[in-house]
Amino acid sequence: MILTRRSFTLGAAALGTATVLDGATGPRRTKPVGGAMLDTIVLGAGIAGLNTAWLLEQQGQTVMVLEARQRVGGRVFTLLDQPGLPEMGFNSMAAGYGRGIDAAKRAGVELYDVSPRYRAAGGMALFLGGQPLTREQWAVSPLNPFPDALKTVMPWEIVNKLVGARTPLADWTEWTDPKNAALDISLRDFLKAQGLPDPAIRLAYDTSPYYGTSAFDASALMLEYNDGFVKAQALAGPGSLAVRGGNSKLPVAMAKLLKGDLLMDKEAVAIDSAADGATVTCADGSSFRAKRIVCALPFSVARRLKFTPGLAGVQAQAVATLGVQPLSVAFLTVKTNYWEQDKLNPSMWTDGPAGTVLAQHFGPTDTEVTGLLLQARGNLARYWDRLGKSAALDLIARTIETYRPAAKGQIVPAALHSWENEVFSGGAWAVFAPGQVAALASTMSAPAGRVHFCGEHTAVGARGIEGALESSERVAIEILS
Ligand SMILES: Cc1cc2nc3c(=O)[nH]c(=O)nc-3n(C[C@H](O)[C@H](O)[C@H](O)COP(=O)(O)OP(=O)(O)OC[C@H]3O[C@@H](n4cnc5c(N)ncnc54)[C@H](O)[C@@H]3O)c2cc1C
Repeated sequence: MILTRRSFTLGAAALGTATVLDGATGPRRTKPVGGAMLDTIVLGAGIAGLNTAWLLEQQGQTVMVLEARQRVGGRVFTLLDQPGLPEMGFNSMAAGYGRGIDAAKRAGVELYDVSPRYRAAGGMALFLGGQPLTREQWAVSPLNPFPDALKTVMPWEIVNKLVGARTPLADWTEWTDPKNAALDISLRDFLKAQGLPDPAIRLAYDTSPYYGTSAFDASALMLEYNDGFVKAQALAGPGSLAVRGGNSKLPVAMAKLLKGDLLMDKEAVAIDSAADGATVTCADGSSFRAKRIVCALPFSVARRLKFTPGLAGVQAQAVATLGVQPLSVAFLTVKTNYWEQDKLNPSMWTDGPAGTVLAQHFGPTDTEVTGLLLQARGNLARYWDRLGKSAALDLIARTIETYRPAAKGQIVPAALHSWENEVFSGGAWAVFAPGQVAALASTMSAPAGRVHFCGEHTAVGARGIEGALESSERVAIEILS
């Protein structure tokens, strides 16, 4: 067996040995762990934790990473055993992801432009109450609750259109500035003020909410921040970049750049800080000491950790209450291209139990459909969860067959991944409720004694993995200074 310089370690560290993994594939060898007190322990081998560890090692620190799962990458998760390598989490970087592009270069993974594959999907068919509607039919449909000026806008387009066109946030990079606190209202109130009636908000947002379970749950200020980031990315240029061979290759390659130990299967459960250092205790009873601890975990899981001394004030409130998006992803394969029979787009936006269906074009050519990726957000994600994997997949397949008789017997359920049910994620991304941006965002990530916080949810100038990387830079500077 080939031994790599990088040590992914697993399991028996408490006994003084640890098993080394090559990539995320399997055990390779054992080696002793221990020795002098480390400079820093990083909790979580997602993009934020891995990059923090790398940055600190570049500055000469000794660093150990503890990861609860048996794989690295967290919310970057490719199904390597399915056609087209469907992504259950992170999909792509925009052109302005300077940090993401740099991380990929450093790690030696190849990025390629997937935007032609996205474009090959050619939009989505609208299905309401099981019936297909073209844009023209939608514009005059009695089901259309939008104001006259917006009748031709499809349900999935309208919220971004209104937030993008009418944002009152002068500079999106200042979204956490207390001077913008008055904008930290619910998305529902923002959309009402733009003339959208409640039935329109329910259809356009609550059916498939990006944040929370309804427009009442989501801070309009957070959507304005998101809108600013998206516009900045568009200014940087066109294109969407993904990792050739699956996005999971990126965290695996980032992990291989590390010199220190990366212990897998190590769920941190407690952090005790004292005058001479801090101790992390794991669920298996093992413990590790360092001068500093970086908590690169979403607050939805960090809230299960026992901090001694306890967190205080706004930070305690943020760790305990910051929301996280309920979202589930399903993957189906198809036996035949049934859409060639019914002449409708295989991609669909539905108000039914199948959620949003996106045809995947990740075969040898841009046009070949490799499967269907479905997203359920908010309450629909929870409904799928309540049904359980196999019943939910069955319902999804039956729903598509009912909507599209040509699909009868042609759909093969393959996978379903619930981010909310994943104990080491708790959801897809951070959700600030109305009032929480003003109350929490500017102070919640401050160091608490020897403990520092990073991760996507703590980013203030970028979203997604670019935000995770931004947060790792901030936390590395905090520690080094
Ligand atoms: C469906 C979906 C689509 C997305 N699409 C995009 C996209 O197109 N573009 C984009 O930029 N972003 C996208 N994102 C967001 C992006 O994936 C995340 O923002 C980013 O990966 C978060 O990285 P992180 O390091 O902050 O957190 P995570 O990836 O969650 O890493 C945290 C790590 O901590 C580990 N952990 C948890 N608890 C413990 C514990 N107690 N002890 C030790 N370890 C623990 C976890 O296992 C995990 O590895 C998407 C996310 C989802 C879910």
